[in-house]
Amino acid sequence: MNNIFKLLPAIHDLQAHPSFEQFLILHQVEKDYLTDVLRDVVTEIRKDILHGKWDKQISSKEEMMAIIFQEGEEELVYRTNYYLTKTINATGTVLHTNLGRARLSDQAIQHVVDISKGYSNLEYDISEGKRGSRHSIVESLLKELTGAESAMVVNNNAAAVFIVLRALAKNQEVIVSRGQLVEIGGSFRISAIMEESGARLVEVGTTNKTHLDDYDDAITEDTAMILKVHTSNFKTIGFTKTVEVSELLTLKEEKEDLVIYEDLGSGVLYDFKQLGIGDEPVISEILQQGVDLVSFSGDKLLGGPQAGIIVGKKELINRLKKHQLARVLRVDKMTYAALEATLFSYLKGRYSDVPTIRDILAPKEEIMDRCQYFSHLLLEKTDQFSIQLREDGSPIGGGTMPGVEVPTHVVCLTHSEKSAEDVAKQLRLHSTPIIVRIKNNEVVLDFRTIRKEEINEIVEAFTLIG
Ligand SMILES: *Cc1c(COP(=O)(O)O)cnc(C)c1O
Repeated sequence: MNNIFKLLPAIHDLQAHPSFEQFLILHQVEKDYLTDVLRDVVTEIRKDILHGKWDKQISSKEEMMAIIFQEGEEELVYRTNYYLTKTINATGTVLHTNLGRARLSDQAIQHVVDISKGYSNLEYDISEGKRGSRHSIVESLLKELTGAESAMVVNNNAAAVFIVLRALAKNQEVIVSRGQLVEIGGSFRISAIMEESGARLVEVGTTNKTHLDDYDDAITEDTAMILKVHTSNFKTIGFTKTVEVSELLTLKEEKEDLVIYEDLGSGVLYDFKQLGIGDEPVISEILQQGVDLVSFSGDKLLGGPQAGIIVGKKELINRLKKHQLARVLRVDKMTYAALEATLFSYLKGRYSDVPTIRDILAPKEEIMDRCQYFSHLLLEKTDQFSIQLREDGSPIGGGTMPGVEVPTHVVCLTHSEKSAEDVAKQLRLHSTPIIVRIKNNEVVLDFRTIRKEEINEIVEAFTLIG
């Protein structure tokens, strides 16, 4: 054993080894970091020898160095691997919250790159040559696209709900229908956000029915707001009643400063319902009804970056902009850049530049082409799978359009020996993780969310399953 210990090199021996210089260039690391990694590898080997776990037959320092550099390289690659990794979404769910919701348009990505690489006029008024406001960046675009008097952007829609409640209803009452006290994505509950904001929740109506009178009876001196929450991730059907904004507006006759606020959740600027997909009203339609404030997400059906967008009455939005929380919840230049580019696609009417819209509207035939292309390539490479092409439906996801599915084509695969769970696991552990659906013990690939350039990678992953 002692002899093996003697083969362990000193650190300066490792640094003098030709591989050391090579690694610095190949892995783009600094000398100190590489030294740390190699030192850790040597420590582990020393421990293994000490505990009798060392089983390699070597007789020279050179051989030992070769092992150290080999293990050092694996360790280096492992430690410097990004946690965030590109993932292939084969579920067909366009807005998959766990997989990052909306993917950005080429225009949005390019604008983010341009703006974040250098300096920008984020808070600088170029014509005046003095300090400007980041609130101005997308405000006029949002006004034009929604018809709102004013607009602002915060970190996400949960933040939008929070700032509206805190700034406009703290220590006052906010009336919400019991049918709209929703939980979204497991971590956002209207009741909990309300409590954090310091506004007092006044629940009215029942789970399935709320009438105008219920709201009317609940109004007191302390009432600041009526909050309507879009039940974006479930549907109540059957014996139901909700109160329209137009009816709620009549309550302003008895209480002039009552704020009517609708948390829309997703919010669309593109009229999907006109194509028979869901029944989401577009933002401008909601504002036209006379609601004071509306908030929605940037990365749900809008198809932009994570953001919370608030549009509505100028006087109210000015109060939000001036509130301390606006500073706390403000968004970065990268978000503004991505949002601005996304909104420009809408302004120009180039809806298909927005991947979320393009994916939702992808025709069945196009998806079928991708299915056939994949099946064809796979059959050339392996005969371990039986393959079926089927018609199916893709959910939209992201807590939007509950119950809505767009017709799609899927490829269903069964391995000759392995279970669907085992195959799904191997696909997840592929160098580019692939996330699939499992249905009736089959691995299901919905090509709605798979881009053509990803197909070769998927074929390779299936081939490696053996
Ligand atoms: C999704 C959603 C939210 C939260 O929005 P984020 O942008 O995810 O913070 C809030 N309210 C409703 C109704 C939603 O659907």
